Amino acid sequence: MKKTSKILNLPITHQYYWTDSTIVLSWLSEISGNWKTFVSNRISEIQSLTDVNYWRHVPTKYNPADLISRGTTTSDLINNKLWWNGPVWLKSDTTNWPITPPNIYQKTDVERKRVVFLIITVQELHVFGKFSNYLKLQRVIAYSLRFINNIKNKTNKLYGNISTNELERASLTIIKHIQAITFPSEISNLQSNKPLDRKSKLLPLAPFLDNNGLLRVGGRLKHAELDFSIKHPAILPSNHHVTKLLVQYEHEKLLHGGQQLTLASLRQQYWPINGRSIVRQVLHKCLRCFRTNPKGTVPPTMGNLPVKRLQTAPALNKILTQNRVLLLWIPGFSDITGNELANDLTNAGAQQQLTRPEPAVGICNSLNGALQDWETHHR
Ligand SMILES: [Zn+2]
Repeated sequence: MKKTSKILNLPITHQYYWTDSTIVLSWLSEISGNWKTFVSNRISEIQSLTDVNYWRHVPTKYNPADLISRGTTTSDLINNKLWWNGPVWLKSDTTNWPITPPNIYQKTDVERKRVVFLIITVQELHVFGKFSNYLKLQRVIAYSLRFINNIKNKTNKLYGNISTNELERASLTIIKHIQAITFPSEISNLQSNKPLDRKSKLLPLAPFLDNNGLLRVGGRLKHAELDFSIKHPAILPSNHHVTKLLVQYEHEKLLHGGQQLTLASLRQQYWPINGRSIVRQVLHKCLRCFRTNPKGTVPPTMGNLPVKRLQTAPALNKILTQNRVLLLWIPGFSDITGNELANDLTNAGAQQQLTRPEPAVGICNSLNGALQDWETHHR
């Protein structure tokens, strides 16, 4: 149409486009993105080149293009006015043109692009809440998985004690389940290689899915010579019952270790969100820790100190005037409490006294006792 209007070199005010296909008119009435790729590409091109409002419907009997598509002979075509001149009404006023029936633009689903939303919801297993011990939960899940396995594989049934592999599989199942409940959009985005939502709590952790589909912390330690679980611990949701069970388990494994120790040990394998807060909460509720470190009780009143520990004496003056050193053994530095006398103030003198097999003066209980001994020996 563009080329024709250029060649004609006439001032054209209106351009009308005719089609006998009601489906095409329907396609043109909507945005191209609603249709499947093939139709969408062509509709998009037509819409960019022409004004959609000037597209009209021509009844099949007035459509010259239909003569060819239906088949005709050359002799018939030579005398066919419709072929050479177009419909008669086209030369008259627009009011005489056939009216496009309004039902033509009714919605058609032919070639419509189908958008399918697949929503998968994972229901939380409420059985988790019935356990107050992680090991018990792990074993119950391990037995459940064994039961499922034995039903599916009749030829390869598992018997006997639960193996470590089964326990690890149970842990994996538990952690994957709680991750699927808490971080469904993050897991979905990572599975389809899409970036995480800007508001996601996991964004600073640069998470990724490992071979088992477990959500792990990314970070920059890829080349560090550390275990995989230390470099990339599995992410645990904050405030989840299972997370608390794991914290309690770790705390008891460390013989009721403190907050820092419990958290550091847990992070060797797992990365709980808001870890400090969760560990503090769990340890605060630990009954055994509470019993051994009760708070709020009144400490017992201490008795008076003995007289000898409170009386002062000019010990150094007396000793220095005699040009000798009083050596005091203080509890904590030696296993005896007492004093020794050195002959002079030199290191050698002090060392000599220290290496003596028997104390010269004997054991006394206080500074006063030492001074009394000193005075007795030097009168
Ligand atoms: Zn404890």
